[in-house]
Amino acid sequence: MASFGKRRPKPGPSKNEQKALRTERARLAALLKDRYPSLQRLTIQLEFLTPQKQSFDRQKRELSPDSVCDLSVPCPGCNSGSFDLAAKVQAVIVAHEALSESGGICQERAFAEAKAICGFELRCRIEALYKA
Ligand SMILES: [Zn+2]
Repeated sequence: MASFGKRRPKPGPSKNEQKALRTERARLAALLKDRYPSLQRLTIQLEFLTPQKQSFDRQKRELSPDSVCDLSVPCPGCNSGSFDLAAKVQAVIVAHEALSESGGICQERAFAEAKAICGFELRCRIEALYKA
């Protein structure tokens, strides 16, 4: 058997595993400019309401092109549910809208056996500023 001086590959993650890791890292680290190159700024105002419709908390997120594009909002009511704004933001950008209001109710069950859902409500206002 001819030897070309190549060393045997070190045992480690397979190529497929390495690729999966890279994809996962890329997804987590995706920047706003990578995902939405047309955006100059994305401003998301969040208001959380309790199931009794009382204002619980307000947050504001401002994303610049170099911000990590994190569009998942953890629910403050149950700590296990979250609101995913990615689809909404995507729709806003595809439609080239400057402003959109949206909302949703956390469907997470506080306990596995509980019948009631968390019921916290998120209202959000998405403002998109596009590059000229
Ligand atoms: Zn919740």
